Amino acid sequence: MMVVDTVAGLMKATEEARSDGRRVGLVPTMGALHPGHLSLLRRSVQDDDTVVATVFVNPLQFAAGEDLASYPRDLRRDLVLADEAGVDYLFVPTCEEMYSQPPLITIGVAALSQRLEGCYRPGHFEGVAMVIAKLFAMVGRCRAYFGEKDYQQLCLVRRLAADLSFPVEVVGCPTVRHPDGLALSSRNVRLSPTERVAAPVIHRALVAGRHAVEAGRCDPAVVSQVMADVMSGEPLADLEYAEAADPGDLRTPDRLAGEVRLLAAARIGAVRLIDNLAAVFGQPRADCEGRSHSQRRPHPEGQLCDGG
Ligand code: AMP
Repeated sequence: MMVVDTVAGLMKATEEARSDGRRVGLVPTMGALHPGHLSLLRRSVQDDDTVVATVFVNPLQFAAGEDLASYPRDLRRDLVLADEAGVDYLFVPTCEEMYSQPPLITIGVAALSQRLEGCYRPGHFEGVAMVIAKLFAMVGRCRAYFGEKDYQQLCLVRRLAADLSFPVEVVGCPTVRHPDGLALSSRNVRLSPTERVAAPVIHRALVAGRHAVEAGRCDPAVVSQVMADVMSGEPLADLEYAEAADPGDLRTPDRLAGEVRLLAAARIGAVRLIDNLAAVFGQPRADCEGRSHSQRRPHPEGQLCDGG
């Protein structure tokens, strides 16, 4: 694996790969790699000839007062994990390299940034759009892998690639979870032992919401209340939102029908966590291994594949 820390070096490496007829895969991350990230890397290693991963904690996507300073960082470990996963190029730019001058051009994200996460993290999606647009411009034609764990971000990135005509195929990858349902997240390391025990309540709330949708509850407010009720049973959880939305544009419809995305955010102590699940109105679902949820067994590596 080669570590690249300049934009020019990244452009040269990816251009050369393509001119050799190699298909390029891109996995953007903020580092502190965990098996959720590794699932994206493995997918690219499997499907592409040259795999580029990036580790960059993008200041533009953190609002004032958010956890930019305390965001987990462990570059030495990331280098080992990325190398072991089969990454060819790890792009680790400094802030000055990414933003050699304060950007004059900004990317507006319109309605998508005014819902769900956007309401709680002003400027977040504009910052995400900026850094991903820059990475797409640097890497050029590629497949780019993003986790469904950050579902609203995945929706945004799909629109970014389409609206700005980047020659990028965006691939969504299932959420990797701990056996108790907690979605893997770099921020989980900041949970105290008691908070770690409390944190799976977010997943339990989403599962309750999914059961309500599957059972034919068509009023989104009723489904939100079902999720909020589960969350309120955990004193360490402070709910920000739990909503049932259209999986395409994330609007809350008047009545639920067809495919639904359930999305939630909560603070567990000082740590803000997000998660989401797919549901189909009126249809109990089988999981990614073809069994119902109650029959699931942990994945061989100890995680569950979310499958939706
Ligand atoms: P981050 O480092 O948090 O910016 O995440 C980098 C990428 O990894 C994003 O596309 C995330 O959606 C994805 N990701 C983070 N956690 C998980 C997870 N538990 N399962 C699958 N993908 C994930």
